[in-house]
Order: sequence, then structure tokens, then C-alpha cells
Amino acid sequence: MLFLLSLLKLTLCLIVVSSEFIWKHHNNEELPLVLEEVHEKCPNITRVYALTEPSVRNIPLYVIEFSTTPGFHQPYKPEVKYVGNIHGNEVLGRELLLGLAHYLCDKYLDHDRHIKNLIENSRIHLLPAMNPDGWQLATDTGGNDYLIGRNNNHSIDLNRNFPDLDAITFEFERQGINHNNHLLKDVTRLAAPLEPETRAVMRWIMSVPFVLSAAMHGGDLVANYPYDESRSGAPVSEYSASPDDDTFRELAMTYASAHADMASVARRGCHTTNSDESATYNFGKQGGVTNGAAWYSLKGGMQDFNYLATNAFEITLELGCEKYPAASKLANEWERNREALVAYLWKAHIGIKGIVNDDSGFIQNAIISVVNITGPVPRPIRHDVTTGAYGDYYRLLTPGHYEVTASHPGYFPVSRVVTVPHYQQYALVLNFRLEPTTSWFDDETVFGLYPHGLRDGQPRIYKRSLYEKVANSMLEHKNTKH
Ligand SMILES: [Zn+2]
Repeated sequence: MLFLLSLLKLTLCLIVVSSEFIWKHHNNEELPLVLEEVHEKCPNITRVYALTEPSVRNIPLYVIEFSTTPGFHQPYKPEVKYVGNIHGNEVLGRELLLGLAHYLCDKYLDHDRHIKNLIENSRIHLLPAMNPDGWQLATDTGGNDYLIGRNNNHSIDLNRNFPDLDAITFEFERQGINHNNHLLKDVTRLAAPLEPETRAVMRWIMSVPFVLSAAMHGGDLVANYPYDESRSGAPVSEYSASPDDDTFRELAMTYASAHADMASVARRGCHTTNSDESATYNFGKQGGVTNGAAWYSLKGGMQDFNYLATNAFEITLELGCEKYPAASKLANEWERNREALVAYLWKAHIGIKGIVNDDSGFIQNAIISVVNITGPVPRPIRHDVTTGAYGDYYRLLTPGHYEVTASHPGYFPVSRVVTVPHYQQYALVLNFRLEPTTSWFDDETVFGLYPHGLRDGQPRIYKRSLYEKVANSMLEHKNTKH
């Protein structure tokens, strides 16, 4: 027994000590060991953590984070994530993310300027497997089936299980209501109960101020961007543009064109047969990118949820024709994807970023709205982003001229004109200082009085000191009641 124990210990030691990454299919026990290994190699810039809930079969959903302040958000540093293995039988993303974790750490230690700059100016989260139960089933059954292992252990497709916020935004569009962000609070009922994996990822998405994201799949070779759902909701193929169509196309094209042959016009479509060339999609011919619904419409996907519930822009990467490639092909797949994986992370730095504050500090939940004034006709981008805990915002934009407005109830909005250049290493910094509307009046006289610009039904927030006074007196009142 003692002998067996020490043998086990020795084996564990060997696993931890061998820091050379091996390309193979890592099982659900090996996956956290690989992440731990990276953390031990790069302890100052990494953190390994699990999402709030495990999978149905109780396997933790592990994440590795890269940042100079692991565990903490910092203003001016955008947060970005990759999510792999959402469908359990689509496994390439899972291994690429384990490889990427090693790569980022190794390059940082090598003082690679490019990777060092990336890590020092961003916070990167990698979730290699969102569906470890599906992976197990797919692996146990040989990994060759197009569907076995796709779903979670409750036979639910996780990429159809998110709240359908597209339906809400499309309904607002029909009614002419200009409201296209942070829509989770507008959900009145769910089409299906949320799976534990979905819930865990939703909590993660809602608690970290992500700016950019990509979800990894397999079975085709294309970078797919919002919306995934058609405006009619019908399962048709029709282009369903989001307000940020230009930006999403650029994000998708960045991955596709940095990949070995995703954007190659010459390559054959994944499902093309000789007899039937025209009837199947050949994404290479369209630059390796597609609008989601133009391919096929789906409801409850993670990609559109990110965009419509938070400030994050997510695209979906189909990483190859084969869903479960042989282990011998993984190293080559890494070479084919490596540049694209890094180039995409840098996209968290396009457009503008900044801080919104007033005389006394940061303003959380300020609204940043943008009008594209590049062409002869101004085009409002009807998707606002909001400021986070440090009053900081990140607004991904393509090159051009924009009018940017920061607003918050209780403050006069401020607009500024900005030019986003063609080549950006980092987002342009554009800060805003807002003046409270109450500063124009005495605190006591402002109750019930609203200067122009404030619409009915908006939350009314007063000068902070007065707000605190009112809030405190309300709390005291409540305490004496019981
Ligand atoms: Zn998939």
C-alpha cells in the first residue's frame, strides 16, 4: 500500500515537473493539471480558477487567466476570453487553448515583446472545456460521430440554452424602441430551464467586464459573427445584421485571414462533394467569414447572448471540417491557428476606451453611445456600451470618424468627435468628465424639477451627497420600523 502511494506520488510529481507541452487529447483529469503546470511556470501572471458551478457530472469548469494583476480588473485594460469545447464532440478548441496557455507563458518568460505587451495591457481568460461531460461521452464512443457527445449530460445543446435575447431586441426594433443592450433584465420567461454549464458561464459573463470573446466549435472552417438568429425567428438562411456589423466583420476577418487557410479562396468547402458543388457552402470563397443567420438561424446561442446581455463582442469560430481530429494532427492545427489566436486577442484594443467621472469620482453604468460620421449621412450605431466599476468603458470600432456621447441620468451628456485610425496598437483614450444637473440648482430645490434632456421613466439619481443623505434616511426609517 505504502509502495503504491509513493508510486502515485512519484507519478504526480513527474506530471507536474514535465512542463513541455505534449499535443494529445487531454482528458478531464489531465486538463486542470496542464493549467496548474502553466501557473507554476508563470505564477505572477496567471491564476487558475473554476466557474461557480460544475458540469452535470460534477466536473469543474476550469479557467486560466493571464494578467499582471491576476484576479483583479484594472482600468484601461480590456478583458477578453476564449471558450472551447462547448459541443463535447468538437474538441480542437479545447486542445488549442491548452496549447495557447503554454505558449503565452513561455513567450512571456522569453521576453517576447509582442506577447509581453499583450499580457501587460489586457486580461485574458481561457476556458478550454465548457462541456467536459459531452467530451467524455464523445471520447468513450470513439469520437467519430457527428452528434454523440455534442450535448451536455442532460442531452441539452448548450449553444441553444442561453436566454433568447435576439427575440427581445427584434421586438424592440419592430416597436421602434431604441434599446439594444443589457437586455437580460427584459427577459420575462425562459424557453427552457438553464443547464448548470449555461448558468455557470452566464454568471461569469455577467461578472467579468469582458470586451471581446470567441467561442470555439468544429465541423466547418469559418469565423461566424452575429446575429445567429434571423429577424423572423424562422429557421431560414438570411443575413441578420447587428448594429455593429462592420466591427463584427472586421473581428471575424481578423481570425480568418490570420489562419492558415480559413480565408483561402482555393480551398474546398468542408461538405462539398464532386457532384454537388453549388448546393453547399464554401466559406473560403467569401473570405472565411459568415453572418450567423445567413448560414442557418439558431435561437439561444452564446454569441448573441454576450452581445445583447453585456458589453462583450463574441464571434463563433468553426475550427475545422473534422470535429474530433486525430491526436497526430493537433500540432499541425496549432501551427495553422497560432497567429490567428494571438491576432484576435489584440482586437480587444481597437476603437476607443476611457473613463467617465465627475468631481467626486468614477461614474459606473454611464452610457457610451456612438454615431458613425465617416460618410455623408451620420449613422447611429444603435448598441450602447456602459462603464464598469472604475467608470471605464471599451468601445470596439472600425477606422473612421465618430461622435461619441457619454451620458448618465442626473448629468448633462457630453459629446466629443474622434477619429479611429487605420493602424492601432492600443485603443484611443477618450475620457469624459460629466457635470451633475443638480449643480445648477440648490440641492433642496431640485426635487421634482428636471432640466431638459431627461426623459420620463429614467432612474433619477441626484448629486451623490444628497443621494446618500436620502438613502441613509430611508434605511434608518426602515430599521426603526421593526
Ligand atoms: Zn458546435
